[in-house]
Amino acid sequence: MDISALANGVTGTVLRPEDEGYAAEVAAFNVSRQHTPDVVVVPRSADDVVAAVQWAGERDLPVSVQATGHGAVLPITEGVLVSTRGLDALTIDPERRTARVGAGVKWRRVIDAAAEHGLAGLCGSTSDVGVVGYTLGGGLPLLGRAYGFSSDHVRSFDVVTGDGRLHYVETGDGSELDWALRGGKGNVGLVTEMEIDLFEIPDLYGGAIFWPGELAPALLPAFAEWSTTLPDDFCTSISLLRLPPIPEIPEPLRGTFTVHLRVGYVGSDEDGERLLAPMREVAPPMMDMVGRMPYTELDRIHMDPEQPVPFEEAGIALRELAPETVAAVLDQAGPDSQCPLLLVEMRLMGGALARERDDAVGGRDAAYTLFGVGALMPPIADAVPGAIARLMEAGAPWSTGGSMVNFHGVPGDAADRARPWPRQTFERLQRARAAYDPGNLFRFGHAVPAPAGG
Ligand SMILES: Cc1cc2nc3c(=O)[nH]c(=O)nc-3n(C[C@H](O)[C@H](O)[C@H](O)COP(=O)(O)OP(=O)(O)OC[C@H]3O[C@@H](n4cnc5c(N)ncnc54)[C@H](O)[C@@H]3O)c2cc1C
Repeated sequence: MDISALANGVTGTVLRPEDEGYAAEVAAFNVSRQHTPDVVVVPRSADDVVAAVQWAGERDLPVSVQATGHGAVLPITEGVLVSTRGLDALTIDPERRTARVGAGVKWRRVIDAAAEHGLAGLCGSTSDVGVVGYTLGGGLPLLGRAYGFSSDHVRSFDVVTGDGRLHYVETGDGSELDWALRGGKGNVGLVTEMEIDLFEIPDLYGGAIFWPGELAPALLPAFAEWSTTLPDDFCTSISLLRLPPIPEIPEPLRGTFTVHLRVGYVGSDEDGERLLAPMREVAPPMMDMVGRMPYTELDRIHMDPEQPVPFEEAGIALRELAPETVAAVLDQAGPDSQCPLLLVEMRLMGGALARERDDAVGGRDAAYTLFGVGALMPPIADAVPGAIARLMEAGAPWSTGGSMVNFHGVPGDAADRARPWPRQTFERLQRARAAYDPGNLFRFGHAVPAPAGG
């Protein structure tokens, strides 16, 4: 493949598999996904992205994108991979309360820079994911019930569509591009920069509580009941964690089976304590770390892995967490099961997440999420895919029928690829994709198939 025209057409770097630097650019946070594109472009500007997409389009090569590889759902096996890590511009405007964020910026940088002005962006469970990739999938923030999805608070996108054109899209401009970028993931274009809202959240009442896993049969039903009584701005989730005995995991959690309750609340300490009390009263915890905390320390709430790991994941949206749902989850992942999964999680949805908007976000109708993650490491690696499938089947009777694209896991056949969106949203997204990516360049990742007959 002659890449000279591409190399001459960009100010960034163009790498072939034999080049030094290629391996570092294709490496994904999910190390079980090994990307082997023909060419990697590391752009320095939006014009570089335009050049890369046009070059690929002229040769009918697929174009994929990676910032961190947290969402590396499938291996990228051909074409041009645009590695956005070099698009690292970040500007905070404290007056307008916004951040302009390049496609390669992770949440950690935004959180730290915004905190200097007492401001915060709507980050999810870990600040290690890319702001843009996360937000294009809706972006379910830690404080989602209080503020809504991250994509509800985008002001504008700079995006290169599949026809190789650069657009500036303002939220509310009435274009299909604006609609599809808010929740439609990478289906219509490659975003080079984005402007998002910031909020005055210097600190919050939040943290984590851990109990021994053997208490799950008491704690999960209590969570199901308690979580229905909470006000909209109280955000919480619960998980069953089976942590491997590795040094990266601190004592006393290393190698244990635990129940992990997560809390994020923007109200007062007094109200937080009162609202949390029923869960604290279920049983004495091993560790209780809930209290006033700076927003900059939000990674302490979920304690997601910070180092790359090989993993498989899947999730569905639940319309309720009935006693029978809890029993089904306990059957799969409770103390009497042989569950190999690292994490089985239920997040409480609702509140501002449920507010209808004209966008491509899926999951607004969910009352809870059910999500499973397994580490693809010996000796349990082979058991993980089956355990995830069984967990999803167990929750299916209470599912809305949908999922959320950021938690969907490996996209399967056409029907499975449709699941993260309500039917009409999915069909509209198909049409938008056909219009903005007529050559089907963006066919990796969670790409939606072409509309029937077109
Ligand atoms: C430990 C962990 C915790 C997580 N917690 C949350 C959470 O709390 N809430 C939540 O909503 N999600 C969460 N996620 C999911 C996460 O938001 C997605 O995996 C998201 O895709 C990560 O974006 P990325 O750019 O970092 O990943 P990448 O793997 O680099 O990109 C994933 C996909 O995002 C799209 N994409 C990325 N950049 C661009 C771009 N510039 N233009 C167009 N498309 C792009 C592409 O489709 C790409 O294939 C979590 C994931 C992990 C692994």
